[in-house]
Amino acid sequence: MAEPIIKFKDLEITYNLGKENEFKATRGATGEIYPGEFIAFFGPSGCGKSTIMYSVLGILEPSAGQLLVKGENPYSFSTEEMVRFQTRTIGIIYQAFFLINSLSVTDNVALPQIFQGIAPAKRERWARQILGRFGMEQYSHKYPDNLSGGQLQRVAVARSMVNNPDILLADEPTGNLDSVSTLQVMAALEKINQDDGKTVIIITHNAAQLAYAHRVFYFADGKLLRSVPNPEKKQIAKIDKQKILVTEMERLSKIYPYITPNELKVKSIINYLTQDFDFDQILRLEQFTQLAVERKISQVDYEKTLIREYKHGGVGAGGPRAKAMAEKVYKILDQAEDVTRFRRRFTNNNFFNREDKIVNRLSKYVISEYKGTLSSVQKRRIKELVYNRISGLVSKEEFIKGLSVSEDKGGVGLDKQTVKKITLYYEKLLVQGIESKGHGH
Ligand code: ADP
Repeated sequence: MAEPIIKFKDLEITYNLGKENEFKATRGATGEIYPGEFIAFFGPSGCGKSTIMYSVLGILEPSAGQLLVKGENPYSFSTEEMVRFQTRTIGIIYQAFFLINSLSVTDNVALPQIFQGIAPAKRERWARQILGRFGMEQYSHKYPDNLSGGQLQRVAVARSMVNNPDILLADEPTGNLDSVSTLQVMAALEKINQDDGKTVIIITHNAAQLAYAHRVFYFADGKLLRSVPNPEKKQIAKIDKQKILVTEMERLSKIYPYITPNELKVKSIINYLTQDFDFDQILRLEQFTQLAVERKISQVDYEKTLIREYKHGGVGAGGPRAKAMAEKVYKILDQAEDVTRFRRRFTNNNFFNREDKIVNRLSKYVISEYKGTLSSVQKRRIKELVYNRISGLVSKEEFIKGLSVSEDKGGVGLDKQTVKKITLYYEKLLVQGIESKGHGH
């Protein structure tokens, strides 16, 4: 594997060193970031996220420990080398954009190239090309005063990339933006990471943005408490096997270390129901689904709120869809109660009867989803697999394998589509059914 592009070890960063108001903002942070990673710095305000970012940028010298960027200590550089480092290696964007109002959009983007001594025609062509990549070419002759916040930030993104640096630092880039502009700016960052292979580090307070990251660096009190891999992304860094997680609940709780178990349950179920709602509809849906998960609203009332128009306080889903959604939610919630019962008994009594009624009920979903007929051997194996998955005796992967491999090889022999659907359903059941012991810190 490649060497880390950024490495810090026992890093300490102290403001006003040696003065009466000396303050140690970073207190022994250790971590590594690999080329091509998208990393989110996350944690309460004041925990030292920006301090580390500015130290990487070369403007805040550590008072102790080690900091290497591309294998070198930026604070060993001469002034000239430092300029080159900041030009070629690092781009940065800020919450407040910092564009120059008296310059056109093109000139703002081209500005870093002036200091590189690149000819005007060439740098302007290049600036417009980069603006085009972020959907901003038609604004190239405008001035910052005439643009919206989201547009300004996309100009700032273009400017940060004009010298083609390896690393993009983004300090709360969407902190001042509405939800639509936020998505556009995040799409730009994703492009820089995925298409250009740049390393992106973002400081964010927005939980939804953690999904873009390969790993979330969770800071508290000037330390990197933990780095959490995003299970939905193919990892670049080598991840400790022990960190491979068992249920979606655990995975979600790692991605969202700060939310309550019930909120996690809501996230899981919402994710199952929606791909095409807009942000506001999803928030609304979350509120009502929370009521459902907490059993404070009946299926009938839940369905009604889904149908009700958004401007009248509902979600604005179509009638048939709302009905199907309400049915799915309540079916999962009902079956999840069986999972809870089962697990409670399972943990108290290891010789639990495999042919138990609960397992029968829980297995019915597979049989109802399967279009063909199942032999008695297949049915028995399904029950075994459901029993094993619900009790945690097998992993999700083993569950999938058991459902997929052919009957003569000891499996159930279901087709890929069905297996996928069934596995998703049981993972959802597990999230809802597992009694939360609480999590996080
Ligand atoms: P975060 O980005 O996580 O919100 P910061 O890195 O901005 O946190 O700040 C970490 C701590 O350092 C805070 O307690 C903050 O008050 C302090 N701090 C930040 N900048 C300065 C500064 N220029 N002088 C003194 N203290 C500072």
